[in-house]
Amino acid sequence: MKATLKTVTKNAMASRTSQLVVPLRNRRLNFDSKWDYAPAPEESKNYVIAPRHELFIAGKFARPHSGKYFPSINPATEEKLTEIAEGDRADVDKAVKAARAAYEKVWGRMPGRERGKYLYRVARIIQEKARELAVLETIDGGKPIKESRDVDLPLVAAHFFYHAGWADKLKYAFPGKNPRPLGVAGQIIPWNFPLLMAAWKIAPALACGNTVVLKPAETTSITALRLAQIFQEADLPAGVVNIVTGAGETGAALVNHPGVDKIAFTGSTEVGKRIAQALAGTGKKLTLELGGKAANILFEDAPIDQAIEGVIAGIYFNQGHVCCAGSRLFVQEGIYGTVIRKLRDRIGTLRVGNPLDKNTDIGAINSKPQLEKIRMLVQSGVDEGAHLTQSPCALPARGYWFPPTFLTGVTMANRVAQEEIFGPVLSVMTFRTPEEAFERANNIPYGLSAGIWTDKGSKIFKMASKVRAGVVWANTYNKFDPTSPFGGYKESGFGREGGLQGLGAYCHIG
Ligand code: NAP
Ligand code: MG
Repeated sequence: MKATLKTVTKNAMASRTSQLVVPLRNRRLNFDSKWDYAPAPEESKNYVIAPRHELFIAGKFARPHSGKYFPSINPATEEKLTEIAEGDRADVDKAVKAARAAYEKVWGRMPGRERGKYLYRVARIIQEKARELAVLETIDGGKPIKESRDVDLPLVAAHFFYHAGWADKLKYAFPGKNPRPLGVAGQIIPWNFPLLMAAWKIAPALACGNTVVLKPAETTSITALRLAQIFQEADLPAGVVNIVTGAGETGAALVNHPGVDKIAFTGSTEVGKRIAQALAGTGKKLTLELGGKAANILFEDAPIDQAIEGVIAGIYFNQGHVCCAGSRLFVQEGIYGTVIRKLRDRIGTLRVGNPLDKNTDIGAINSKPQLEKIRMLVQSGVDEGAHLTQSPCALPARGYWFPPTFLTGVTMANRVAQEEIFGPVLSVMTFRTPEEAFERANNIPYGLSAGIWTDKGSKIFKMASKVRAGVVWANTYNKFDPTSPFGGYKESGFGREGGLQGLGAYCHIG
């Protein structure tokens, strides 16, 4: 299954530019036909998306104060799926008041064992509706169904189950302490894992006795609102979770609302910094999960084929729309040629296209602005002298697409080595010694995650202690579990989500 791949140098870039600006189209895959699969679309016609989605406040769906709605688009087809209510300050105020009332009258007083029962119920309903939720996540966000079905949804349910288990055991989570809820938590999430980020935020908050106002990302609000229906089905008391959809200003209104005791934000470093400034001196608690530019460090003694699979999954998984994506690859010099050859062969086999097809590896880029950002940054890499290698795969004529790409000849000063691209683009660099590897890996403003590939346990321990990253994977990548805390160093944020540390972020412990 050999693919013909394009490798482009700066000199050849004049003709290449148009290819970066206009997606590759109508190219024929050069695979041996026996490796082609027949289309295998996931059944989706039974899942109806309502033409309009309202806000979810005090247990009911409600029209927005502004009367305005904005469209939610399927990024794989550019079709409008529905319209979403645009919440403003008045709606945020209503939602915060509903959350406060629910906290004071019901949820904050409820024994943990009772709160746990609700969380278990929610977890079970999510499992029952997992297929539908996965389909909606894929249609609204563009990620391949095999990821929403096999990664996102199992983790969403696992987060509710895990935190349901803690609800009546908080004293054991923090022995000798007296953990108490914070009150009302304002939670703002991005578009790359819409339902999973909602679960990461809502489940620990509720387990600890807090109530919630959640602001989903503009481009991916549908599954959060489906989750609201699940809360209704689970008979969760009104006001315990409120969902206010809208744009960045809606999020800012939540951040600045005086009735909120804590803000938990996942998103870009730029917005995270603004939120930190806005909250300084207010006494509100804050956790920030921000951007990343993870390094995968590949030593000569690593199991190379296994490492290539990990590197591929680490960057092309979910179109690279992953904060902890292994977007930089540092290869030890002795194996550089072999690694590049294997990478080239492997990206040519990745299937890009209909996210609902069960064979698709790489789905649609979440939005047009995100696609433009990816193109701009890749172009900057080429302009700065990097060599571009892209899969020649055919891309659909409509929708937002970017082929799996890697850049070689990248220097540490290049933008593609420093800035988060948030797309299926890998920047490859080399190193000679372990010291050089961790110094180069650390030479960025971010510190969210890293991967180390080597046969030597001692090298794993040394590197893991030297790499400044909140999560370090060894001989694997992108493995998640609700029991493991996740979070960053430096401009990747502060605070942890998941595990005991994540639970502690929703309690006063004293
Ligand atoms: P973003 O632009 O920062 O948006 C994140 C959320 O904040 C969205 O709901 C957004 O609303 C809202 N928002 C925008 N401006 C705001 C403001 N001034 N005040 C309050 N809220 C505001 O990030 P994104 O582009 O959606 O997501 C990609 C980023 O998230 C990447 O940098 C990625 O690394 C990061 N991320 C980090 C983690 C982690 O755990 N560290 C996990 C996932 C993603 P709109 O949608 O309406 O703009
Ligand atoms: Mg959408």
